[in-house]
Amino acid sequence: MTTTPYPHLLSPLDLGFTTLSNRVLMGSMHTGLEEEKGGYAKLAAFYEARAKGGVGLIVTGGVSPNARGRIAPFGSELSKFWHVKKHKQVTDAVHKYPTKICLQLLHTGRYAYHPFSVAPSKIKSPITPFTPKEMSVRQIKSTINDYAKATKLAAQAGYDGVEIMGSEGYLINQFSCVRTNHRTDEWGGSLENRMRFAIETIKTVRARVGENFIIIFRLSMLDLVEGGNTWEEVVTMAKAVEKAGATIINTGIGWHEARVPTIVTSVPRAAFTWVTERMKKEVSIPLVTTNRINMPEVAEKILASGQADMVSMARPFLADPDFVKKAAAGKADEINTCIGCNQACLDHVFQQKRASCLVNPTACYETELTFSPVTKAKRIAVIGAGPAGLAFSVYAADRGHNVEIFDAASAIGGQFNFAKLIPGKEEFYETLRYFQKQLELHQIPVHLNCQQSAEQLIEGGFDEVVLATGIKPRKLNIKGIESDKVLSYLEVLRDKKPVGKRVAIIGAGGIGFDIATYLAEEKSLTKDLDAWLENWGVDKAYQHAGALLEQPKRHITEREIYLLQRKTTKVGKGLGKTSGWVHRANMVNNNVQMIAGVSYKEVNEQGLLIAVNGEEKQLKVDNIIICAGQEPNRDLEQALIAANMSVNLIGGAAVAAELDAKRAIRQAAELAAKI
Ligand code: FAD
Ligand code: NAP
Ligand code: SF4
Repeated sequence: MTTTPYPHLLSPLDLGFTTLSNRVLMGSMHTGLEEEKGGYAKLAAFYEARAKGGVGLIVTGGVSPNARGRIAPFGSELSKFWHVKKHKQVTDAVHKYPTKICLQLLHTGRYAYHPFSVAPSKIKSPITPFTPKEMSVRQIKSTINDYAKATKLAAQAGYDGVEIMGSEGYLINQFSCVRTNHRTDEWGGSLENRMRFAIETIKTVRARVGENFIIIFRLSMLDLVEGGNTWEEVVTMAKAVEKAGATIINTGIGWHEARVPTIVTSVPRAAFTWVTERMKKEVSIPLVTTNRINMPEVAEKILASGQADMVSMARPFLADPDFVKKAAAGKADEINTCIGCNQACLDHVFQQKRASCLVNPTACYETELTFSPVTKAKRIAVIGAGPAGLAFSVYAADRGHNVEIFDAASAIGGQFNFAKLIPGKEEFYETLRYFQKQLELHQIPVHLNCQQSAEQLIEGGFDEVVLATGIKPRKLNIKGIESDKVLSYLEVLRDKKPVGKRVAIIGAGGIGFDIATYLAEEKSLTKDLDAWLENWGVDKAYQHAGALLEQPKRHITEREIYLLQRKTTKVGKGLGKTSGWVHRANMVNNNVQMIAGVSYKEVNEQGLLIAVNGEEKQLKVDNIIICAGQEPNRDLEQALIAANMSVNLIGGAAVAAELDAKRAIRQAAELAAKI
């Protein structure tokens, strides 16, 4: 008898008038294709791949029910009959499979990035430059009607339902909390008045489309801001949402302006499911839980223990469209896991670029980055088993090339082996597990402890050589730099050289910040949910409005750390758009002194002598750690070219400046697609 690997995750969910094939909801994600010319055909291919991969229910990226609610001047809107046609491409593509799809209706309110924004009260948000206009009662009523009209159009476009976005600090959430609702009419004041907008919207939408249409309401269960709702208020609202006719309640965690990280990689897995579990006792319609759920065993545990009826995963479906299919086949070790880095998804969206995925560069490029079988297989030597070499090898072997991979180190992974050691970056391990499995499945010979010389490669008789040899840390020319006090980041992470209590870090790029975290957080908080919640000020007992503690209980390092850069710009400015603030806050919380505009004078007996704004300052430190960027490692290139070999450079070996794994993997995939 065969057993289903994830019985709860893969069991159907009966909604009365329709049945979902499993408990997996692909959460709403804006991809940027929505606004591109011809983007809907690409979007249809994107969603089709996820439907083919077995997702039970897809929720689209947010679409506004009217012009003022759009996120930006050219943001998506569904309000006119001629908008329907492009959506039909998406629903037709998805409905080739037994997957349901709901359109998310998102009115941004004061989060809009345009001057026509409206909100319950005229209060600017801290994260947008525009002050919203206070909505008149007439405007409120016509906006509710716009939701219903958009829902009717969604039904005409073939959607199985809508998700009404009521969390994350968008319009409906702005109505429901005193933080942003200072009205004195029937739409403000008491909770009954503040939640009237949400409840009237659900009732009007339900009346317009009838009973047999899915209405998901995304309820803010944790506002995580001052002036957020109390637990009692959230429960009252959930009950009213159920009574008003919602089919499913999805969990919303934290406003965008909240200073608590909610989805970055250092957030523990399933960090907020406890709040959905608490709500399970209060309502009887299905509840969806969300945030940092990225592997089937995590989802299964949540469902098996009754914390929720469904799980929402969004980014994991950028990383792997076949997540559900692989889980169902008992092949979870083949899943390309989302590592929560935000580098190619949310960071892109916030920069108005098309979203993709660091570990899966084909995401949102389904029709453009493709790997056709080769007509003539080549023998290809790949030197370096870092992210670039690994990704190239797997994609090229998949096309039918005969690939061999060589690395001087004793394990695959290159610098990812050091990234995964940083507290809060444990997810990076998953990428190496994924590649290890793919190498096995593609039967790619892997030669470890095998430093390659040009001579060996020339003798090897390969058709192509791919140099994925990465980088060399930059060496600095500062007086006294040869002192034993000075360590490179590799000596700290790889060689585990001891580091003293007082430390200066030269270079405040990604690696400088990571080293500071490594030294500050001797025990990773990501592994201890309660400690992590306390550290960020989250009140799990929910004794205060917004679920914030009066005082966070910080876990502060005993080390004295200086993080230095020469630039005069804010330290950490170059970090990821959606994750940089978390790294900076972590430094502030640990009393790390971040100093910009530094010139390095000398390493001396006492530590490091620097000058800031022309004034000398002696840092009394035990160690100085160099994290000053990197140079390409292309030692082999010239000799191979001289021997007339066909040489290709990818990743750090191609360009070290501003290198990250996102670029390394994409470049590798693009080469593999055409070689
Ligand atoms: P590498 O990973 O450097 O791999 C090169 C490989 O080539 C090595 O394994 C090396 O042993 C091998 N090699 C070199 N010469 C030879 C030879 N002659 N013969 C055989 N083998 C050879 N990037 C991100 O995008 N996000 C992050 O959050 C992030 N965090 C990081 C944290 C740390 C602490 C570090 C150190 C790096 C981090 N990075 C991060 C950077 C990321 O790891 C690199 O951009 C990426 O690894 C570059 O990939 P690569 O394949 O080009 O080179
Ligand atoms: P980096 O981000 O380029 O930072 C290098 C740092 O060294 C800068 O702060 C730079 O600032 C300083 N520096 C450069 N030349 C110097 C010199 N000659 N003397 C003294 N200081 C010098 O590089 P990195 O930190 O090595 O990271 C490598 C790559 O890995 C990055 O591009 C990054 O994308 C990726 N990474 C990403 C993350 C992430 O969380 N996304 C984390 C780690 C690594 P000044 O020139 O102002 O001094
Ligand atoms: Fe996940 Fe990073 Fe890919 Fe975004 S870019 S989906 S966070 S792995």
